[in-house]
Amino acid sequence: GFFSNDSLQQQRKQLPIYAGKDAVVDLVRENDVTVLIGETGSGKTTQVPQYLLEAELAGSGMIAITQPRKVAATSLASRVAFEQSTSVGSLVGYSVRFDEASSSSTRIKYVTDGMLVRELLGDPLLSRYNIIIIDEAHERTLRTDLLIANLKTILQARNGSASVNRTGDKGKGKHKMPGNYNPLKVVIMSATLEAEKFSKFFGGVKVAYIKGRQHPVIIYQTTSSQPDYVDAALRTFFQIHTDQPPGDVLIFLPGQEDIESLEKSIKMYANQVPKDSLSILICPMYAALPPSMQTRIFLAAPVGTRKCILATNIAETSITIPGVKYVIDTGKCKEKRYIAKQNGTGFDTLLTRDITQSSAVQRAGRAGREGKGFCFRLYTEDTFNALPLTAEPEICRCTLASSLLQLRCLSQNLEEVDFMDKPDEESIYFAIKTLVLLGALDTHKTLTPLGRKMAAFPLEPPLARALLAASDLGCTAEVLTIVSVLSTSAKLFVDSHDVRDAAVEARRKFRHLSGDHLTVLNVVRAYEDVSRSEGKAGRKDWCRKMFLNERCLAEAMSIRTQLRDVCERHQVDWKVGLREHEGSDGDQGLILRAIAQGLVQNAAFLQPDGSYKQAMGHTMIKIHPSSSLVDKKVPAIVYDELVYTTHVYARGVSAVPKNFITETQILRQRTG
Ligand code: ADP
Ligand code: MG
Repeated sequence: GFFSNDSLQQQRKQLPIYAGKDAVVDLVRENDVTVLIGETGSGKTTQVPQYLLEAELAGSGMIAITQPRKVAATSLASRVAFEQSTSVGSLVGYSVRFDEASSSSTRIKYVTDGMLVRELLGDPLLSRYNIIIIDEAHERTLRTDLLIANLKTILQARNGSASVNRTGDKGKGKHKMPGNYNPLKVVIMSATLEAEKFSKFFGGVKVAYIKGRQHPVIIYQTTSSQPDYVDAALRTFFQIHTDQPPGDVLIFLPGQEDIESLEKSIKMYANQVPKDSLSILICPMYAALPPSMQTRIFLAAPVGTRKCILATNIAETSITIPGVKYVIDTGKCKEKRYIAKQNGTGFDTLLTRDITQSSAVQRAGRAGREGKGFCFRLYTEDTFNALPLTAEPEICRCTLASSLLQLRCLSQNLEEVDFMDKPDEESIYFAIKTLVLLGALDTHKTLTPLGRKMAAFPLEPPLARALLAASDLGCTAEVLTIVSVLSTSAKLFVDSHDVRDAAVEARRKFRHLSGDHLTVLNVVRAYEDVSRSEGKAGRKDWCRKMFLNERCLAEAMSIRTQLRDVCERHQVDWKVGLREHEGSDGDQGLILRAIAQGLVQNAAFLQPDGSYKQAMGHTMIKIHPSSSLVDKKVPAIVYDELVYTTHVYARGVSAVPKNFITETQILRQRTG
């Protein structure tokens, strides 16, 4: 048949990495650490784990392969399971936050770097794994850097100190095995050529280069800058579509909002193109896309159809989509960045910003995988030349509180860890301050029992704190629900311009006077009632009518189930709640008190001019238009996050009694 195993195995043999199979296997067999560089699409991520398993280099242990992104981990695991003629969760599995598919027979596991850090907390030598592959190492995410630093010490503990860079040793009998640990193999994989740093970090280990099969790509640049890059992408797409021969188009955009807006515009204009041209199949690709939609992008478009993939930088190196001949590069990406440092507290926010030269080169390369390609950069040559060569590692630009908490659980300190790039002192100071404010560390920076408990939850420290505060206050059930919704990847409310009035009207039903957190709780309660009375179909219908995103609610329910498990394992009774006294304001106040304890750093006070000023900083904030508190003036608020557009907006806002925050000021004095 079309997908016969023979043809699939044939496909595998055609990948560039296949020619280097024996060389890669030998290198890994002979060295504790290997760095492997190969162009995107050469087969590193899908093939190397299979090669190492076939060569029996994992012994009786597992192979872990890390990915910075959840979607990449799950979709690659499915692909490799398919290549092994099994279903995902058996021989080949994955483990990402709030989702896992593995069993006792799993030998190859695709994991997010964050999940592997989490495993480290319970198993500091990662003893379940005999091979750990750090993939997409060039992205230098905070968790990847944390793992790389820890792997260096794990290698020493498991393989003996002189283990790194041992060449010529065929691995027979020379291993010094302290305790009962199996020796560990580490492979660092990257799509870009900056391999030296990784090699040096491990004491000068060997670097293998996989030759790619890149075809020439002709690059066009604009002559003037294009501030409206979505519009420029739209025009460029239709120029390609009407003038150029068949071939799929891959458009790089910074995030989901732009992808959705461009998708809409393309659909609108598609009717106006001449009838005899190809029809258009739009495939969006971003982190929060439901899995069923993700698999679609790998399928070939029917004859007479041009596939148009709208993707974030996930399609830059981590996922290779076949059939692409044209790339449109807006030159933008979203980047997590720590801001407002000078204000005494920090927080991460996603900012749309210019990409790096290295990204631009990767993006263009996506057009030349199967033949001659074309890349349309929506920026000028001067702009390109002014771009930074590579991105700053995340460890230098993100908040470190959650990593610090995890390190403290391993009795490590941020200052002492041997990182490839060290975080600056100020960031370390703020991380400590955050954890002291949350009660996870005492003022001597010692981990408290509360801190250890917080670290057990796969949540950012503020949300873990809110949950544990709720357990003290007797409203765990409610806060667990709120925290679950806040941890989803999708938005709860459907925000469509065409239906704004209707949506606002529908939403009014759930609105809680205190703000968005209790509004969320009202939504979930109503959703659960409808689920009970009207079942799956009725629930779906109801969500549509109420302009609620059912996927968000379904995801929240699944997250809540998993968080309940974590609660049970750590003696937190998640059933304790306020339901019996529902309606009483005093009790609802307990929920807000728990939320405020978690979001202590995100508090702000009303100013005479109607804006809000951070309680622990100096930033002036407005309430985001999407908030149910938008037109209210209340003395004090706490919020989930800040977004930067024309103003600094607080999103996910609740009004809290001012005295909740006075407590935080006392804390502030305590920490100085
Ligand atoms: P690399 O890691 O070197 O960038 P990969 O191993 O990710 O390369 O990809 C190798 C090949 O596998 C590519 O041709 C890619 O298109 C294909 N591939 C990866 N995932 C899927 C999938 N889910 N469905 C179909 N093909 C896939
Ligand atoms: Mg890869």
